[in-house]
Amino acid sequence: MTDPHQLQVVNPATEEIIATVPAASAEEVNTAVARAVPAQRAWAALAPADRARLLRRFADTVDAHTEELALLEVREAGHTLGNARWEAGNARDLLLYAAGGAERLTGSQIPAPGGWNVTFHEPLGVVGVIAPWNFPMPIAAWGSFPALAAGNAVVLKPAETTPLTALRLAGLALEAGLPEHLFQVLPGHGHTAGRALVDHPDIAKIVFTGSTRTGHEVAERCARLLKPVTLELGGKSPNIVFADADLKAALDPFSFLDNAGQDCCARTRVLVQREVYDEARAHLADALAAVVVGDPADEKTQMGPLISRAQLDRVRSYVPDGAPALRGTAPDGPGFWFPPTVLTDAAPDSPAAREEIFGPVAVLLPFDDERDAIRLANDTPYGLSGSIWTRDLGRALRVSGAVRAGNLSVNSHSSVRYWTPFGGFKQSGLGRELGPDALTAFTETKNVFLSTEGPA
Ligand code: NDP
Repeated sequence: MTDPHQLQVVNPATEEIIATVPAASAEEVNTAVARAVPAQRAWAALAPADRARLLRRFADTVDAHTEELALLEVREAGHTLGNARWEAGNARDLLLYAAGGAERLTGSQIPAPGGWNVTFHEPLGVVGVIAPWNFPMPIAAWGSFPALAAGNAVVLKPAETTPLTALRLAGLALEAGLPEHLFQVLPGHGHTAGRALVDHPDIAKIVFTGSTRTGHEVAERCARLLKPVTLELGGKSPNIVFADADLKAALDPFSFLDNAGQDCCARTRVLVQREVYDEARAHLADALAAVVVGDPADEKTQMGPLISRAQLDRVRSYVPDGAPALRGTAPDGPGFWFPPTVLTDAAPDSPAAREEIFGPVAVLLPFDDERDAIRLANDTPYGLSGSIWTRDLGRALRVSGAVRAGNLSVNSHSSVRYWTPFGGFKQSGLGRELGPDALTAFTETKNVFLSTEGPA
């Protein structure tokens, strides 16, 4: 039987236990928050330029440990080496961006009769970050670094399957000279440590990334305390391919296979205009067959395993044996492998076409015209991401205006950058991360009226 006080970290490519980490209890969350409160006050009292200097030193330390962090992400999350290196670089770059933001976080003066109003962006206090397992390092960074830069402390609970890179980031923060207890990482279970963080009265805000189901519970608990919450939840994003598109680029299988499809922005509904449907299907069949699936630590590997047996079982449940599909190959095991798959006969209202599978599985659906494409694209409770492929600029603008999603790309599959806002419409979430407003999302605005009237 597994010990609830310990987390076993399993390499998903081999099923070997690579580490055992204590699971934080609710009392340990309370202790961490109690330590974070004075650390935050001292941090907020520093001049912004001094906070920025320390965060830049933290970025340099992350940079010096890129390979170590990347290998840790490969081993605990099964990410390919190339992706994991990018993730460590993304954490470093976000630190530098956030450090600059600390220096530029200014209020405004607003004239009023008899004086001026002056506004200030004050830090919230201690922020709780709850991270998932699909991108352990970037999501830990996105929730935490802008909060730190704005003068907050952070207590982060990583997913129980993937605590190692977040723990290492917290260690590197100390090595870089960040104050003790300012950035604490507490591995633990969602139903104990996660809930304790959400319910804690001294946690001023929660940043949650994960499933829509858990996101609802977190939002309800935060609402009882009027606690602000940012939710980055699931997706079922469309890839809308018009007949005039560059089909090869549009049908890049890594638009839904990156990170073995465990990506909330994965374009898993491939919508193709009917006149090029057969051509698209043939292209995808070849592309899937060419994907190199295997050891994520091998430089040549393009797709690694799923995170866990539970996730493998979940993905399998959407792809019954014999379902009409295009398929690549995958190793047999050990490890949690599933081949790249495109379901070719799924009805638009079937679970596979509507629910977030979070594996290397897409559905291929034909559409007739622009109106039909928009209808299908929006026929989902989610609204996180999506791509639009056409050489007609007017159509690209019309369709990107009509699709209800937070992050779209035209003639590209790339829509996530640390300097641009990221977040979802509908059931994909609430609020935005990253981008120019990343720091103000972790502040309260205070308005002070300065009277110029003399004594009566
Ligand atoms: P969850 O949403 O349950 O987990 C995300 C994080 O929330 C984890 O750290 C988890 O801890 C924590 N958590 C769980 N329950 C609570 C709670 N009651 N209060 C506070 N924190 C909690 O996702 P799952 O890991 O269960 O994945 C299931 C599905 O969710 C996936 O198949 C996928 O479809 C979707 N998902 C979407 C993600 C996205 O980026 N949009 C990311 C991850 C999953 P613990 O690790 O202990 O469970």
